[in-house]
Amino acid sequence: MKSVLVYCEVENQKVADISQELLSAGKRLAQKLDCSLEAMIFGKELKNIENQIAPYGVDKLFVGDDTRLEPYRTLPHAALATEVLKKEDPQIVLFGATSVGRDLAPRIASAVNCGLTADCTVLDIGDHFVKKEKKEYKNLLYAIRPAFGGSIMANIINWDMHPQMATVREGVMKKEIFDKNYVTEVVNIDVNKIIKEEDFVVKIIERHIEESDVNIKDAPIIVAGGYGVGSKENFQLLQDLADLLGGEVGGSRAAVDAGFIDHDRQIGQTGTTVRPKLYIAAGISGAIQHTAGMQDSSLIISINNDAEAPINKLADYVINGDLAEVIPKMIKFYKKN
Ligand code: FAD
Repeated sequence: MKSVLVYCEVENQKVADISQELLSAGKRLAQKLDCSLEAMIFGKELKNIENQIAPYGVDKLFVGDDTRLEPYRTLPHAALATEVLKKEDPQIVLFGATSVGRDLAPRIASAVNCGLTADCTVLDIGDHFVKKEKKEYKNLLYAIRPAFGGSIMANIINWDMHPQMATVREGVMKKEIFDKNYVTEVVNIDVNKIIKEEDFVVKIIERHIEESDVNIKDAPIIVAGGYGVGSKENFQLLQDLADLLGGEVGGSRAAVDAGFIDHDRQIGQTGTTVRPKLYIAAGISGAIQHTAGMQDSSLIISINNDAEAPINKLADYVINGDLAEVIPKMIKFYKKN
C-alpha cells in the first residue's frame, strides 16, 4: 500500500521538533496522495510514545524500543529503518536534515537503491512529463532546495526512483496538529531479530551537549540586524528594542561574519529558519540566503536607508531611513505606549 513514511528522532522520551515538523509535512503529502502516513521511531523507554505522534495524523507507527538504541548510532538505526522500508514499501520517506538524518538517510537510500534529495525547504506533489520518454509520471514528490551555494533554488523531481526520499531542513515546515484524538496503530518491532551484535561496533565513550539559552527559532518577535547596523555596539540598540517588545535579536550572515553578533543568532539558509509573528529587519538588504530563513514571518518591517533594498519587496511595512535614527524613535514610542 502506498504511504508516506517519516523517520522520527527521539531523546529522553521527547519526540524532536524536526520530527513533529516532518509529520505535519508528511500528513499534507499523504492527503494529496490519498494514502496513509506512517512513522518509525527507535530509542529507549518508548512506552506511550504514540501519544506524541498520533495527533499529527499518523496511521501506523513502528517502534523499536531498546536501551541500546539511544543515543543514536548509525548501524542499528539503519538496520531497523531499512527493515521497515522493505516491509512497508512507502512511496515517500522523509528524514530531518539534522546530524542524525544526514548520517542515516544516505545509508538507507543506498540500501534500498534509490536517490535522495537533501536539505529540502519545500515539498509538494505534482505530475511530470519526461520528454525523452514521452511519458507523464503522476503524483511525484516535488522538492525545492538551495543549490550552487544558495544562489538558486532548484526544483528536484526523481521520477524514476522508488521510494522518493528527502531530508528536510529544520524549522521550514510548520508544526500542525491534525487531530488530537487520532488513533495510531502501533507496531512493536522485535529489535533483536533485526539488529546484530556487530551493529554496535561503534562505542559511545562520551557525549558533549552544548547548552544554549538562545532560542530564536520559537521567538514570537525578532529584531534582526544586518551589516548596515555597523558595529557590535550598535546592536545594543536592537537588543533594547527586542527587550522592550519581548523578543529576541537575530542577524544576517554578514553581521555574524563582521563579528557584530554570535553565530547562534544567524538567520537564513546556513543559520536558523524562523517564522515569528513580527520580524523587524534593520540594515538587512534581503539576499535570498537570508530571506529563505525568515520569509514565512507573519509581519515583516524593514528599516533600510536604501528604498530599493530587495527586502522591501517582501516587507509588509518599510521605514526608509537611517536605523540609528529610526530605532531610538521606536524605543521611545513603545516605552510611552
Ligand atoms: P548587506 O547586503 O551588506 O546589506 C546591508 C543593508 O543595510 C543594505 O541594504 C543597506 O542599504 C542597509 N544599510 C546600511 N546602512 C544603513 C543604515 N544606517 N540604516 C539603515 N539601513 C542601512 N546570509 C544570511 O543572512 N543568512 C544565511 O544563512 C546566509 N547563508 C549563506 C550561504 C551561502 C552559501 C552564501 C553564498 C551566502 C549566504 N549568506 C547568508 C550571505 C548573503 O548572500 C548576504 O551576503 C547577506 O545576507 C547580506 O547581509 P546583509 O543584508 O546584512 O548585508
